[in-house]
Amino acid sequence: MRIEDEYAVLEQRMLGYEDYCEIPVKSSREVMVPILGSMSLTTLIIREDAIPITGYRTYVREGVYERLVQSAAILNEQSGLTLDVGYGYRALSVQRMRFKQALQRVPPAISGKERLATAHRQVAVPEVAGHPAGAAVDVRLLKDGIGLDFGTELWEYKDGLEGKRIYYGAPDVSPQARWNRRVLRKAMVASGFAPFDGEWWHFSYGDKEWARYYNKSTALYDQIEFRGPDV
Ligand SMILES: [Zn+2]
Repeated sequence: MRIEDEYAVLEQRMLGYEDYCEIPVKSSREVMVPILGSMSLTTLIIREDAIPITGYRTYVREGVYERLVQSAAILNEQSGLTLDVGYGYRALSVQRMRFKQALQRVPPAISGKERLATAHRQVAVPEVAGHPAGAAVDVRLLKDGIGLDFGTELWEYKDGLEGKRIYYGAPDVSPQARWNRRVLRKAMVASGFAPFDGEWWHFSYGDKEWARYYNKSTALYDQIEFRGPDV
């Protein structure tokens, strides 16, 4: 099979925003908490667009934090790895801006609903996005402080076929990168996170995508306006 066709198959299997946009949210009052660094869990990268909102700390819902600690413990005990969280809560305004940019990257030949679906594979449609609910995280793994090979960096968005290497099942990354993706996914799913096939680094707990993945009738966390106390 040609590589283009392999990617087309992966895209067909991916959940689209229409698969879960109708799922209701049973609103939780659970608080947002900062991720505190430890031997097994770190927040080494802070994206620039997060700083005005949450400062130099990464926030997630309490239930998400508990599960991150659990995943990190599994990875640390089994393989001496560190779970590094690159993004947690993201303001809705930032999500909207990013989605707009993703839409602009879609080739002009793709139109209508397919245009939204294509952009959504890179940046979630704001209405269903898990980051503004404090429910989604972008993570990678470190060994002795050095990032493992995942075939791409975190958020390595590129045009064309090369840009599809961020898909979890990408056929043209090395066996080592594929293995590392599997190790990460296994530990995250073991703690209750739902994976996202469009980005090897993205996982969520309690958002609509999570509800769809685990066949729950409601999501747990609503999108919220939040600001870090230091900002
Ligand atoms: Zn993400």
